Amino acid sequence: HTFEELGLPTEVLKGLTAMRFQKPSKVQEKALPLMLANPPQNMIAQSQSGTGKTAAFVTTVLSRVDHTKPNQPQALLLAPSRELARQIEMVIGHIGQFLPTLGISAAIPGSIPRDGRVDKNIVVGTPGTVMDLIKRRQFDVSQLRVLVIDEADNMLDQQGLGDQCARVKAMLPKDIQILLFSATFPDKVMKYATAFAPNANQIKL
Ligand code: AMP
Repeated sequence: HTFEELGLPTEVLKGLTAMRFQKPSKVQEKALPLMLANPPQNMIAQSQSGTGKTAAFVTTVLSRVDHTKPNQPQALLLAPSRELARQIEMVIGHIGQFLPTLGISAAIPGSIPRDGRVDKNIVVGTPGTVMDLIKRRQFDVSQLRVLVIDEADNMLDQQGLGDQCARVKAMLPKDIQILLFSATFPDKVMKYATAFAPNANQIKL
């Protein structure tokens, strides 16, 4: 399979080419057709780090966002640390470099002033800060169409982060597409994951 065969927007294909990604990695080949299908379906994907999972969900997010509305938050990506959020933000910037209206808001501690707004079409953040911004009405979540949770084993298991993720999700549109990625899904986490992302396609490498 090639990236061309997946029906990705031209600008996203150009971004993947600029990254010198010649063909989809295994996890991308398995997960992308399922994540890009319409109507959107949830996904629980288990894959080691280093296998291309970041590019898999970033490609999906970039393909799902309506780029004619650059100031309307449409995709939310959650990570357990600000460092990881920044890394994801960089990958979005690279693969999305040919999208003329791409915007990314970081929702990590200190990134948004108290009178500021989350006003870009893609939002990458940590759960606590995202919660605060939604509660303070600095982040309009009503038009979000896709939620990605990276390192889902950490995010859904740990007492604090798990609660925060559940509380964030409760405030999002009910029909949002949920994509969970993790290197491992121990049984306990898998129980949380299937409740968090109902009827998800599951892939494991
Ligand atoms: P990750 O699993 O997200 O940590 O990605 C691991 C590494 O693989 C990163 O350095 C990516 O730039 C690279 N990568 C991701 N997808 C591909 C691909 N389709 N072809 C070649 N390299 C890739």
